[in-house]
Amino acid sequence: MSNYLGAHVSAAGGPDKAVERAVEIGADAFALFTKNQRQWKAKPLTDETIEAFKNACKTHGFGPEQMLPHDSYLINLGHPEAEGLAKSRAAFLDEMQRCEQLGLTLLNFHPGSHLNKISEQDCLARIGESINEALAQTKGVTAVIENTAGQGTNLGWRFEHLAEIIAHVDDKTRVGVCIDTCHAFAAGYDLRTRDATRATLDEFGRVVGFDYLRGMHLNDAKSAFASRVDRHHSLGQGNIGLDAFTTLMQDSRINGIPMILETVEPAIWADEIAWLRAQALDAAPGK
Ligand SMILES: [Zn+2]
Ligand SMILES: [Zn+2]
Repeated sequence: MSNYLGAHVSAAGGPDKAVERAVEIGADAFALFTKNQRQWKAKPLTDETIEAFKNACKTHGFGPEQMLPHDSYLINLGHPEAEGLAKSRAAFLDEMQRCEQLGLTLLNFHPGSHLNKISEQDCLARIGESINEALAQTKGVTAVIENTAGQGTNLGWRFEHLAEIIAHVDDKTRVGVCIDTCHAFAAGYDLRTRDATRATLDEFGRVVGFDYLRGMHLNDAKSAFASRVDRHHSLGQGNIGLDAFTTLMQDSRINGIPMILETVEPAIWADEIAWLRAQALDAAPGK
């Protein structure tokens, strides 16, 4: 099996710089923000910026299936109040359109929070409707829902939440899921042994389905099992441990997707990527 490996690199200086930073760490995948992730508004992308990014991708051989852009943390597609919801939907549409302009086909986002003002069911339905609105106004970009750690009132920490959001989406060909290992572990999906990891994957397959798996975030966890706290750690240094990542790299159900590190020490990303690649090779037939 073969997947693409990389990290969430900085796009400071322009998205083309993100491509170069990915190359520097030996990655054949990467994640990036196409705008400042802590601000609502961004200047539109210029033709020069778009051109520079597309050239960098071409030069270094990055296709759209190898890149997993991430949206702003401010966006809440399940916002309980009309004004917050409208603002979030407008910002999400802008992010989708930026992806379209850059030739990116996946947009990774955290589903949303009910803020204790509406029910989980209503919030999940709102998120689905937000996705429908964005998909109706764009072409070629898939909305990739990330599972969360379940901090505060964030939804998406149970696989059932992801399945329910997908059920509300009209165009099933343009909705997918990104599984973050730290978030899953913090949400109560065990990954501490090979068997536990396989059981968690089985559960994902049963509830959501691997056809929807469009990316992964590979992070160990500083947070405790089922703590609902989101704190990433470097691979093998947290409460998950290395066995999970070996198992993931060798599971044939995970295939052809970008697997992105959001671990805490960028200085060792190159080593982490090399280690992950070696795990996948160990599973190759005849070895
Ligand atoms: Zn993540
Ligand atoms: Zn996280």
